[in-house]
Amino acid sequence: MKRHTRILALITAIYIVLALIWWSILLFQKNEAIFEANLKILELTSSPTVQTGSTGLAREQLINTYERQRWMVLGESLFILVSVMIGIWLIFRSYIREQHIIKHRRNFLLSITHELKTPLTAMRLAFETIQKRQLSPEQIAGLTSSSIQEADRLTETVNNLLLSARVDRKYVPRPEERTLEHVCESWASKCHHHWPNRDIRFTFSATDIAPVTADWAGLDIVFRNLIENAIKYSSAEKPVDISLGLVQNEIELVVSDLGSGIHPSERNRIFDMFYRIGNEDTRDGQGTGLGLYLVREIVRQNKGKIQLHNNLPTGSRFCIQIPL
Ligand code: ADP
Repeated sequence: MKRHTRILALITAIYIVLALIWWSILLFQKNEAIFEANLKILELTSSPTVQTGSTGLAREQLINTYERQRWMVLGESLFILVSVMIGIWLIFRSYIREQHIIKHRRNFLLSITHELKTPLTAMRLAFETIQKRQLSPEQIAGLTSSSIQEADRLTETVNNLLLSARVDRKYVPRPEERTLEHVCESWASKCHHHWPNRDIRFTFSATDIAPVTADWAGLDIVFRNLIENAIKYSSAEKPVDISLGLVQNEIELVVSDLGSGIHPSERNRIFDMFYRIGNEDTRDGQGTGLGLYLVREIVRQNKGKIQLHNNLPTGSRFCIQIPL
């Protein structure tokens, strides 16, 4: 909606409300005028000296009718006014929601284009260099491994996209058995592979070493998105802490970073599809706004809970609890 259309819509809404109030007042006054006129006619037609019983009855009837109509006008005016106001509010609310969706969609298109183009460009550049130049085997190995990393990143983005399209309706948790120790080891080795220079600390707190049945494939996705965010939104020299354990019959995963943190006013919205804090035109960090949406949906399908706290002294602490 353009600006002048918005102003026109607002003026029309105000006009409708004012017109309704005006017509109600007018109807009120007309009712009163009719009542007074009828009363006068009654007084003129009845004998001034003898007040018969039928005149008193007619007068009472007139007053009753007047009162009834007064309440009817008041009630109906209020009902229509409230209905119109609710209607206008619903229209404006859906307009604001639509604006948010348009903004998110635009942000998403900008970020997804960037996310798809960047690895492709890097891979193309690497292949062109290998093709055109005489390179040493070490150089070729370096370029190939960076291309593999870019391909992995592309695969991850596409996987997230595919999963987010079906996670709200078609995602079915698939329980499987794994020991917490094994899960921790596999996550730690993945982290070491992806971010060899980052200080990522694992705490594994399970008294029982028996295998645990849970949707581990889903929890892998949850973990991957949380750790990626912790790495992305905190500086390179800051450590990231991860703890995995069993607390009162629940799997508890906590990912804490020492980054910039998340403002309380953004805490509910960051779990929305495509939502990213800030403006896509000025942002240079990677992302599509799908990560936390996937986290929320997978946790929800597993009947679990997510809590987001401030980490001390700075940063965020995401705490996931999944009942066994
Ligand atoms: P993105 O692909 O942008 O990372 P996410 O859905 O994973 O999308 O996160 C949504 C937004 O929440 C991010 O754009 C970021 O602004 C904010 N966010 C998520 N995790 C963190 C974190 N650990 N620290 C600070 N901000 C975060």
